[in-house]
Amino acid sequence: MPQLHAEVTSPAGAASLRRSPRTGLMSIGGRLVESSGGWIDCINPADASCIGKVPRATGDDVDQAVQAAEATQREWADLPVARRSQYLTQFADAIAARADDLLVLEVADSGNSITGMKGDVVACVERLRYFAGLGYELQGATIPGSPDRLNLTVREPFGVVGRIAAFNHPLAMAVNGLASALMAGNAVVLKPSEQCPLSATLLGEIANRVLPPGVVNVVTGDAIVGEALVRHPRVKRLSFVGSVRTGLAIQRSAAEVAVKSLSLELGGKNPFIVFPDAPLDKVADAAVLGMNFIWQGQSCSSTSRLFVHDAIYDEVVERVAARAAAIRVGDPFAWTTEMGAIISRAHLERVERYVALGKEEGARVVTGGQRPSGTPFEHGFWYQPTVFADVTQDMRLAREEIFGPVLSILRWSDVDDVVAMANSLEFGLTGAVWTQDISLALRTARRLQTGYIWINGVASNARAIPFGGYKNSGIGRERGLEELYSYTEEKSLQIFI
Ligand code: NAD
Repeated sequence: MPQLHAEVTSPAGAASLRRSPRTGLMSIGGRLVESSGGWIDCINPADASCIGKVPRATGDDVDQAVQAAEATQREWADLPVARRSQYLTQFADAIAARADDLLVLEVADSGNSITGMKGDVVACVERLRYFAGLGYELQGATIPGSPDRLNLTVREPFGVVGRIAAFNHPLAMAVNGLASALMAGNAVVLKPSEQCPLSATLLGEIANRVLPPGVVNVVTGDAIVGEALVRHPRVKRLSFVGSVRTGLAIQRSAAEVAVKSLSLELGGKNPFIVFPDAPLDKVADAAVLGMNFIWQGQSCSSTSRLFVHDAIYDEVVERVAARAAAIRVGDPFAWTTEMGAIISRAHLERVERYVALGKEEGARVVTGGQRPSGTPFEHGFWYQPTVFADVTQDMRLAREEIFGPVLSILRWSDVDDVVAMANSLEFGLTGAVWTQDISLALRTARRLQTGYIWINGVASNARAIPFGGYKNSGIGRERGLEELYSYTEEKSLQIFI
């Protein structure tokens, strides 16, 4: 079994793409195709250079991809479980064998640091292998009734699944939607983010080589393509990762066409509650780690609202500011880099608007708050790791998802108040609690309206633990058995004996 090497040597990757940009093609029915809709340029966030292009798909392309998926899906679902599992394992091995190429595309197209992105590539391979091993768990039930009847259920795939992904973890978001849906016997049409589509085009090429044609299809393009997939009458199951605003639009569009099954992994503005007995240095480390500066804060699970008890507030602010200021921002291809570039100029400007707003609202910048200076940052979309203190609950800075490298630190003194503040937003994705009193930690965790909570830690993910949001942060859970089941419908059978 090929092992992951993924030890690409630094900037050569980006330079080679600049010299010879990649033309990423769509994969439909096992073939690489262009579109009559023209092309979308792919921009390297680190220096604003063009590193490739992908087709701007049309509604016709989406329809062809759905048809190709339909044409092969029945046969795919009818394969013995062990054979589908073998295919998924071969897919994982083929991804591992191209890990270096995928990693170069990921880093150059996203601006994320190579260290973080290597973890994503490894996780993709592991996820495919994990779901490949779960095929025999696609079990139904026998249900007691009367002696003359046998009641049972079987799980069946939906057919064609539409997967629409966000920009921040391009390959991981793509593979996350594929592994379980395929194992359950569905065929998939994947639409990556138009901001970061290159790795998905290579993923399509790899799939074409190792999977039956049409089982995985990749269409590239923007919201129009996503909307065409959502509205396609024969795509019953949609799985989406992105913003709350788009999630709501998808629910509306889907409902205008048919009754569809949706899973939505949406945004967060996640609370991290620090009690007065928490160890100051560990908490400061966790506050910085939990902000996911490694992705420029562009992570749905970032604990971007740090609630620190009044008794230790000043010490924690000072320590967090010092750690954030020490983060090494720079070349995403350098293994020593701890924070890369923001995905686009538009997103950088959005981050800047929030920082300006925070200042106007009366919050205090304790580190960062501007673009970094110097030659490496002249081009591209760069921002400093930024920490605001004296943030209050009424500020937009504390209430809206920025999805950038901006941490807000709020003060609290009453536990009921802090729980109420933490729960007061539309979001409910992740949260964190830090105290040495485990009963207090558990009571607080149970009161937080979020789908995933860390106690005395942050930011770690485990493969089979369900991940998903309460409230407007989403519908459904990814990662474990529940994810696998979510790609099936249950059929009940009554047998008269
Ligand atoms: P986005 O909502 O702007 O776009 C996501 C995808 O939806 C893109 O592929 C886009 O082309 C497509 N799209 C846009 N409008 C559409 C429409 N009307 N119909 C169908 N498709 C449409 O999100 P983004 O900026 O790429 O990603 C950032 C957001 O994603 C943040 O809010 C973040 O919190 C969230 N996110 C959530 C998770 C999670 O697991 N909960 C993970 C990563 C990112």
